[in-house]
Amino acid sequence: MLKDKNCLEDIVFDSEYKDSDIAIVGIAFDGTCSYKPGARFAPQAIRNDLYGLEAYSPYLDKDLSDYNICDLGDIELSFGNTILSLKTIKQEIKSILDDNKKTFVIGGEHLISCPIIENYADKYEDLVVIQFDAHTDLREDYLGEKLSHATVMRLVHNKLGDGRIFQFGIRSGTREEFAFANKHTHFCKFDLETLNEAIKEIGNRPVYVTMDLDVLDPSIFCGTGTPEAGGITFKELMDGIILLNGLNIVGADIVELSPHYDQSGVSTAVACKVMRELLLAMA
Ligand code: MN
Ligand code: MN
Repeated sequence: MLKDKNCLEDIVFDSEYKDSDIAIVGIAFDGTCSYKPGARFAPQAIRNDLYGLEAYSPYLDKDLSDYNICDLGDIELSFGNTILSLKTIKQEIKSILDDNKKTFVIGGEHLISCPIIENYADKYEDLVVIQFDAHTDLREDYLGEKLSHATVMRLVHNKLGDGRIFQFGIRSGTREEFAFANKHTHFCKFDLETLNEAIKEIGNRPVYVTMDLDVLDPSIFCGTGTPEAGGITFKELMDGIILLNGLNIVGADIVELSPHYDQSGVSTAVACKVMRELLLAMA
């Protein structure tokens, strides 16, 4: 369960829940990580590091302190029980959407996006999802397990159907996943080349952005459980988020930071900056 909807004291996210337009929620879950776990430590690491970041974005010429944002802390989960954890996430996020607020979620591993997006799809019947990721995440199951960070976008596709998922930066998956993507999603291999076209096609429709940070190259972002060489640069991602700024973004998440795999702390700092820009793009 969420902590009381009293907002944490913070220099930036200091709105009362009732006055806020965006609620930040941490989901410290990494129970299905297929390789290296540790994403459960990301929400706390990001909150610690946010104090080192300016509220102002020179990329978007927007300032976090001009918006009503609160931080609700982390959702309490039943560790070891994926099904119950997903159920809890779904309920908690639904209660925030029912209060007509947008959510910005700090994961955690990527599976947490599934119950969140299901809520958004129930609320917005023409919802589209933009996914940044190194991985397709379109497996039907991973070693027999249907609930996994490797199956999350397949689960989202089950909910949304064809043509409503836009995938960018993808450079890893099975042959079957790539074939599935070519048929059922808008799919951009390796980079963000077709993002501009996608944005035109999406128009005014409500958008949920799911940001698997491993879309970035491991040279700038090695603090993740499944690093994948050949990723996009930080500047490419910033240019992409500047394009997103014109969209009707109703919710977003950043997932798959595993802070302890990067002893320099750079990955956490990168995640904080991506979080600021995405928050401002949806504010
Ligand atoms: Mn990934
Ligand atoms: Mn992913």
